[in-house]
Amino acid sequence: MEIKPIIEEDALAKLLGGDEFGNIPRSTCTKIEKLGAVFDELIDPSLYHQNMGVDSVKKGAVHLEKGPEFKSSKLSKTLKDCEEIVCYIVTLGDGIEDEINRLMNEKHLAEAYILDAIASVAVDNMVATFHQRMKNKYENQSKQVTLCFSPGYCDWPITDQKKLFSMFDSNELDVELTDSCFMQPRKSISGVFGITTFNSNQSTHSYNPCLECNRRDCSERRNSAH
Ligand code: SF4
Repeated sequence: MEIKPIIEEDALAKLLGGDEFGNIPRSTCTKIEKLGAVFDELIDPSLYHQNMGVDSVKKGAVHLEKGPEFKSSKLSKTLKDCEEIVCYIVTLGDGIEDEINRLMNEKHLAEAYILDAIASVAVDNMVATFHQRMKNKYENQSKQVTLCFSPGYCDWPITDQKKLFSMFDSNELDVELTDSCFMQPRKSISGVFGITTFNSNQSTHSYNPCLECNRRDCSERRNSAH
């Protein structure tokens, strides 16, 4: 599946400290326009995904068939009714990373910062587009998908990144893991979401742990069940 990332303007404005794109200063908009053209030339987006069967979900861990177990009580609660999960890795490739580093080294700090923000919005958009396409696909089969989760977010340890990557053929991936489990290129996202049979009980099929979590200051909070 090919996905061309879109830069959502309001999401970009929020990363740049504004509320909506229309309120961004003209000088910043000019930089965004120029860097947007550079961005299109430099990205080499890739998406890898793989379905895995769920053997069982118990004691705060998701045990996969023919695979490892993911340890996270919140992920477990989200996936408790799923027979299958989708594992994915998306990346924008090396080129954008190299350009951000070049701009930093040449002290074009504003441009480097804006290009970094553009790339963050774009890679998030790739995940959202993939998730939406899979949601549409499974809805046609009377199934539904859960929210996405990534190692290192919420209570899922980043070290489980190694388990997630072990499900892919490393020779085919354009993304590598460092010893500390960060991805290279940096503008990459890995994660999972579950697939479950359609349940008209909204509170079950769209379980979102954030809605019952007391950490009000959490930057990863999701307010929607979708
Ligand atoms: S608010 Fe933060 S800590 Fe709480 S469930 Fe959501 S992501 Fe996890």
